[in-house]
Amino acid sequence: MASLNACDFYGLDEFLTQEQSLARKTAKDFIAKHVSPRIKESFEAGYFLEDLPEIMGGLGLLGANLSGYGCAGMDSLSYGLIMKELERCDSGLRSFASVQTSLCMYAIHEFGSEEQKEKYLPKMAQGKIIGCFGLTEPDVGSNPEAMGTNAKKQGSHFILNGSKTWITNAPISQLAIVWAKTHEGIRGFLVEKGTPGFSIARIKNKLSLRASETGTLFFQSCKIPEENLLPKTLGLKSALSCLNQARFGISFGVLGAAEECLQEALTYTQSRVMFEKPLASFQLVQEKLVHMSTEITKANLLAFRLAQLKESKKVKPAQICMAKQNNTKIALDCARLARDLLGANGVSNDYNSMRHMCNLESVFTYEGTDHIHKLVIGQEITGFSAFF
Ligand SMILES: Cc1cc2nc3c(=O)[nH]c(=O)nc-3n(C[C@H](O)[C@H](O)[C@H](O)COP(=O)(O)OP(=O)(O)OC[C@H]3O[C@@H](n4cnc5c(N)ncnc54)[C@H](O)[C@@H]3O)c2cc1C
Repeated sequence: MASLNACDFYGLDEFLTQEQSLARKTAKDFIAKHVSPRIKESFEAGYFLEDLPEIMGGLGLLGANLSGYGCAGMDSLSYGLIMKELERCDSGLRSFASVQTSLCMYAIHEFGSEEQKEKYLPKMAQGKIIGCFGLTEPDVGSNPEAMGTNAKKQGSHFILNGSKTWITNAPISQLAIVWAKTHEGIRGFLVEKGTPGFSIARIKNKLSLRASETGTLFFQSCKIPEENLLPKTLGLKSALSCLNQARFGISFGVLGAAEECLQEALTYTQSRVMFEKPLASFQLVQEKLVHMSTEITKANLLAFRLAQLKESKKVKPAQICMAKQNNTKIALDCARLARDLLGANGVSNDYNSMRHMCNLESVFTYEGTDHIHKLVIGQEITGFSAFF
């Protein structure tokens, strides 16, 4: 009898439709051909592979779950499976795709005017315009309501002042979605690269997500035409709804990294002999491998159900928080355990587990920290807010 698959112990694969399997295969083949051979060097040298966006665009992998405007219009599960294949390779690549699709393209698709959608979305789907999403500020992270960036109406323009930091894709982007306080509350703005008063600085020396570009955005009396306001944004909830889209993708993405770590630890411990026996035959080693397989199986079931809820438009933000929080935590735990089981080799970039571990530290913090998601779930089940 064939052994059960350690990464799909309960056989979720058999529920996939042909379209969903094809979406996953497209992402898998893209990774094998264009990314895997170069990812370790890209991580070590600390740069993003800038030829990838247009290749991904050509394959329908950007804005994949959006409809119209040159987007592939896939369902939620297909989108999740794509994110999983990207992150199985590297969280930096999945971060690029999440920001492009779920934060930037979704923001325009959901809150933009028809002109804005036609101007930006087809080129973003092709990877010809790269977007970034500016919410976090140097002094404002988990509590974005307290943001200092502001936009004052002046005739047919807004004057934008402030800064945003830790912004994924910023150094390689042509378009920034920027959230700022106005006389009507928090609104979203489209700020094009080259707008006078707008500058971008690259963040160097990251020890995590090294294959992804991150930067700081500065706005000094930056004049934004009125037509660059995202007209349907109203309040922080508009920004948070974009985050919900991205967090959904992360819930799947991190499981790609976790599965890669389990697979690497399994292969390694089955072949490495110590005390005259394969490492995988020792009880303490098996306990770790079983823990990883069990947590990955549970997390995949969570993600699968989340996709059903999203597809039927019944999903609540706290349900997305639970999947993002749990799946990121177990992925980070799996990466740490796999790193351990690889012994000294585990700290080398010749293997994948430590790169995934370093990357997942960022994923643990961004798109809502582990604590913040727990507070959202806590509020949902108790009725009490513990934020302040
Ligand atoms: C690589 C990377 C890429 C990123 N990309 C983007 C991007 O594209 N766009 C963007 O806008 N932002 C981005 N971020 C920023 C990210 O979203 C923030 O770092 C995150 O929201 C946390 O904010 P902070 O770093 O200011 O931490 P803080 O809010 O200062 O939190 C520090 C610690 O305190 C805890 N804490 C805070 N408040 C509470 C509380 N009430 N109760 C209990 N604990 C609490 C946190 O959980 C955390 O452990 C990125 C970050 C990284 C590392």
